[in-house]
Amino acid sequence: MEYDIIFVTGEIFFDHPLCGVAILKRLLEKYGYKVGVIEMPKKEDDIKKLGKPKLFFGVTSGGIDSMVRNYTPLKKLRQDDEHLDYNESVPDRAVIVYSNWIKRHFHDSIIVLGGTEATLRRFVHYDYWDNKLRRPILFDSRANILVYGSGEKQILSIAERIKTNKELDNVPGTCVISKEKPSDFAELPNYQEVQASKEKFCDMQNMFSNDNNLAQKIDNRYALQYKSPIYTSKDLDEYYEFPFTRKIPVKHLRGFEFSVVTHRGCIADCNFCSLTLTQGRRIISRSEESILREIWRITKLKYFKGNIDDLGGPSANMYGMDCNKCNKDCMICKNLDRSNKRIISLLTKARKIKGVKNVYVRSGIRYDLASKEYLKELVNCHTYDTLRIAPEHVNKNILKLMNKEQGDLHRFIAEFKKFNPNKELSFYFMIAHPGSTMKEATELANAMRSLKNTEAAQLFTPTPMTVSTCMYHTSLDPKTKKQVYVPYTYNEKKMQKRLVLGVIKKKS
Ligand code: SF4
Repeated sequence: MEYDIIFVTGEIFFDHPLCGVAILKRLLEKYGYKVGVIEMPKKEDDIKKLGKPKLFFGVTSGGIDSMVRNYTPLKKLRQDDEHLDYNESVPDRAVIVYSNWIKRHFHDSIIVLGGTEATLRRFVHYDYWDNKLRRPILFDSRANILVYGSGEKQILSIAERIKTNKELDNVPGTCVISKEKPSDFAELPNYQEVQASKEKFCDMQNMFSNDNNLAQKIDNRYALQYKSPIYTSKDLDEYYEFPFTRKIPVKHLRGFEFSVVTHRGCIADCNFCSLTLTQGRRIISRSEESILREIWRITKLKYFKGNIDDLGGPSANMYGMDCNKCNKDCMICKNLDRSNKRIISLLTKARKIKGVKNVYVRSGIRYDLASKEYLKELVNCHTYDTLRIAPEHVNKNILKLMNKEQGDLHRFIAEFKKFNPNKELSFYFMIAHPGSTMKEATELANAMRSLKNTEAAQLFTPTPMTVSTCMYHTSLDPKTKKQVYVPYTYNEKKMQKRLVLGVIKKKS
C-alpha cells in the first residue's frame, strides 16, 4: 500500500486515546488520508519498510523525551527502572536520529516533527545531558516543520497544504526556519545572547508561551513560532470519541485500557513542569455528554469487566475549570470556579451507567483545588484503596520556587481521613529541586517520617524549557533574577536522595 503519511515513533503504537499518534492517525483517516506507522525502528533500514509517503513523514519520540526515557536524573542508563517499559532500541535524541535516517533514504521527503521532544526543544534550550545550550531542534534535524502541543489541527492543516502544493509557513501551532522575522513576532534573545548571558537566558524563559508569535535568531536565520490554534471542547469530543480498539500491548500501561480523558491543559503553572508549553495554560474540558457516551461505548466492549480505570486529565479535579477571560494566574483568581461541581456531576452520572461497577480516579488531583464535596465523593466512591497526591515538598521557600505554594497539606490529610479512615493517601515528593540544600532535604525527610505511604520521591530532572531548568542552568530565579542555590554535584544530589529515600526504605 502507498501511504500518504507515515509516522515514525519511538514508542509502541497502540490504538487508544492515550497514544497521541493513534489520535492523529484516526483523525487523518477520517479526512481520507492513508496513514502508516513505523514503531520503534531499531536500525536505519527499518525506516524504509513502508516506502516513501506521498505527503510526509511525521517523526516523534512519543510522549517522553528520549533522553529522559534513556537516563536517570543522575545520568545513569535507565535499564533498571521498573516503572518504565524500557527498551534500549530507542536511540538517544530519537527525533534527530530518525530524521537523519529518513533524509539519507528519502532525501526529498518532507519531515514533520512532533511530540514532547520536539515541542520542548523548539527554541534554544539547556540540555542537561550535554550540559550545554543546544539550538532549536529544527536546526539539528533538517526537518521542514515542527508541530508543538497535541497537534491535531496542525497535522490536518499541514497535510492539506502539502497535498495542494502550498507553503508550510503561517500554520498556527507550528515552528519553521525563516530568513526573515515577520513584523508582528516578538523577538526572543538570540542564540549568541543567551549563550553569553544568564540574564538573557532568563529573559528568554519569561517570554516562552504558546499564545504568542515568537522569533529567535540563530546565526543568520530565525526559528519562528506561530501561536497555538484554539482548541475547543467540541474538538476534544471529536478526537476522544474515535472508535479506538483500546487494546494496550505496553506493559506499564496495562490496567489503563479503560481510562477516559476528561480535559487538557493545566492552570497551575508549576515551575518544574512543561505542561503549559505542551497542552497550554488554560483548561479545555470535554462535554459531559461526550465523556458519558465514551464510557457507555466502553461498556459494550467484550472484554470490559465493569471498571473504568481512570477518569481524569493532567489534574483530575481541574475538569470544568475552563475560563479564558484573561491571561493572568487562575490559581489566585477569585473568579476561578473552585466548587468542583462539574466533576462531581460527571462522576455521579458515570458510575450510574449500566455495566459500570466502579469509576476510579487515578490521575492524581490538585489537593489545594479539591472542595469538601468533591473530596467526599472521591474518597467514598472513586478511590480504590489509595489516593495519590503530589505535594512535591514541604519547605515554603522550595514550594515558592516550584510555584506550588498554595494549599494546606495537613488540613487536607485531616479532611481526607474524616471522610473515610479506611482509605489511604500516598505522596510524591521531589528531591534536589533548585533551592534545596541539605537543610531543606533534611526538613523533607523529617516531614516524610510523620506521613504514611511516602512511596515515591524522585530527583529533580532539568528537562528542556521549564522554569526550574532555567534556574538550574542560570542559578537565578528568572522571575526575580535573584540568586538561587542549586545542588549541582553528583555527590550532593546523591546525598539528598539517600537522606530522603532512606526514610522510605525504613518504612517499607
Ligand atoms: S478570570 Fe481568573 S480564572 Fe478566568 S482566566 Fe482570568 S485568571 Fe483565570
